Amino acid sequence: MSASILDTGVKVVRNVGGFTVGRGSLSHLPQFVDARRRAVAPDAQVVYLVDTFFTSQPDLLARLGSRAGDVVQFVDVTDEPTTDGIDAITNEIRHQIRGLPATIVGFGGGITMDTAKAVANLLTNGGGAADYQGWDLLQVPAVHKIAVPTISGTGSEATRTCVMTNTKSGLKLGMNSDFTVFDQMVLDPDLTATVPRNQYFYTGMDAYIHCVEALAGSYRNAVGDAYSRETVNLCRQVFFADDMMSVEAREQLMVASYLGGCAIATSYVGVVHPFSAGLSVVLGLHHCVANCIALNALADFYPAEHAEFRTMLSKQKVSLPTGVCADLTAEQYQRLVAATVVHAKPLTNALGENFRAVLTDDRIIDIFRRM
Ligand code: NAD
Ligand code: ZN
Repeated sequence: MSASILDTGVKVVRNVGGFTVGRGSLSHLPQFVDARRRAVAPDAQVVYLVDTFFTSQPDLLARLGSRAGDVVQFVDVTDEPTTDGIDAITNEIRHQIRGLPATIVGFGGGITMDTAKAVANLLTNGGGAADYQGWDLLQVPAVHKIAVPTISGTGSEATRTCVMTNTKSGLKLGMNSDFTVFDQMVLDPDLTATVPRNQYFYTGMDAYIHCVEALAGSYRNAVGDAYSRETVNLCRQVFFADDMMSVEAREQLMVASYLGGCAIATSYVGVVHPFSAGLSVVLGLHHCVANCIALNALADFYPAEHAEFRTMLSKQKVSLPTGVCADLTAEQYQRLVAATVVHAKPLTNALGENFRAVLTDDRIIDIFRRM
């Protein structure tokens, strides 16, 4: 293959080490945690990073298998992770543990799972989060870590990255490495019952969008394609069902999220994610709602998927923010352009190396104005 910016050099794909799936599978978490304590030291500590939503559910927290001396830290999900924020959490944890923990449990959505992945990397590699934003910069394996997703769609439970914004440069980039992949995972659809409907839809659509973008791109992989096709199938079953949040649908979406994460580990996204990243970086919108707003304005590039997405939105009676780019200054539009075109890999995957011939500044601004 000729040298292309799409050539990642990743020839061998690493998956999550093991998992349990199904209603009630959270009951296995204490066994996973205890097995790690036995492997490390009987008195080894465990770190739990938990989405702040669950402060409202003390009964659930009692089921995670924590003991006196373990560190339970709630992750603020108001904003998506930044390098400074990750460094602050890591330093706090360093002060609360002796040596390294037996395992780190990431219990929550993409923000919490990405935080767990980043902290696990930093505890063994040292330095700050910004040092490892990029591809294969980590030198040694991370602390053992377990994913427990409580909302489905991003696929963070499966991927080899943890997304964060660089506090200084504004660059949104993860620590892409095999060391970032979780060692174990618990997929319990009972955990997603409390997710607000709009959020459930936006995050779930991330799995759909990852995979329709991957399937429309030029950088392909036979296994990735198979994961993507099944992810899209499952998302259709969920979002065309009468109740997208039935127990069956929640389990299907949990599986779609995981498979979508596996798919994206071997491929690239396309045009939607760069526009979405622009909305996140310049306007502070969260990833999944930003994706939906972007796809809604990108019918030119994904006509069939756009139509399907609109049908799913109305079937589930979900509303989408509108007018998010109204009344911006010329300088803000220019920042949106810059924050979009910086994503050369996915744009090349979707449109070819000459993507700027298609995506001129004027056209990009016109698309943002439609959001
Ligand atoms: P999130 O972590 O942003 O959480 C969204 C909201 O849902 C929060 O308010 C949270 O409190 C709430 N929530 C979570 N579980 C809940 C539950 N069971 N009941 C009620 N409320 C609940 O969720 P997300 O959309 O999964 O994650 C977005 C993040 O994922 C972004 O930071 C994005 O960059 C990242 N991401 C990572 C990858 C990756 O491969 N690592 C891929 C895509 C996106
Ligand atoms: Zn995404």
